[in-house]
Amino acid sequence: MGDFQKERLAMVEEQLRRRDIYDPRVLGAMAKVSRQSFVPADYQAAAYEDRPLPIGEGQTISQPYMVAVMTQSLELKGKERVLEIGTGSGYQTAILADLSQVVFTVERIPTLIQKAQMTLEALGYRNIFFLTGDGTKGWQEKAPFEGIIVTAGAPEIPKTLLSQLAEGGRLVIPVGPRYTQTLYKVTRQGSRFQEDDITGCVFVPLLGDYGWKEE
Ligand code: SAM
Repeated sequence: MGDFQKERLAMVEEQLRRRDIYDPRVLGAMAKVSRQSFVPADYQAAAYEDRPLPIGEGQTISQPYMVAVMTQSLELKGKERVLEIGTGSGYQTAILADLSQVVFTVERIPTLIQKAQMTLEALGYRNIFFLTGDGTKGWQEKAPFEGIIVTAGAPEIPKTLLSQLAEGGRLVIPVGPRYTQTLYKVTRQGSRFQEDDITGCVFVPLLGDYGWKEE
């Protein structure tokens, strides 16, 4: 496997910086993390293309730009505890782990989280904790979190996740109908939750007790 350095830097310039990604820490992490390590062998040549890719089990690794927008919206400075719902390939997890103190990641499909954990450990990450289960319930024992990111589309914002947000903390989540959503950033201000919409998006469904019911 080549190191894809040229493709990675071109992705950062053309797909991120030329759009609206300006946080130098986010740009730096995305210029560093080897996205090709997180995609199946058949798709490695396409790892830096401007689109999501299949990772098995009917799931996807998100488009690089979407990973960047969501991460930038969390406003990470380096000291945060972050909860991620939807580990998938583990690529977004790696970006979060580079930019915060500790990441707690939850995935409902065992084969995906096992593979993601192997990849992340092989890359040397030691600040990530993994849980297999329904992430719509959050991870109560580890709360509160300064950042929560949900990488699957929800019918509405799960109250469980709002209750696990620290004061001043940010929740980034796609919300809307099953096949097209709006990305929201929710900021906790005491008992108030400020909602801002960021962009339109399309995610696989968030399935669980406080998400979509399985068909
Ligand atoms: N961020 C991931 C990456 O970089 O590869 C992509 C995540 S993929 C778009 C969404 C993931 O959310 C899928 O792996 C799916 O199985 C997972 N998911 C859906 N509902 C979930 C739930 N209730 N709890 C945990 N994970 C869930």
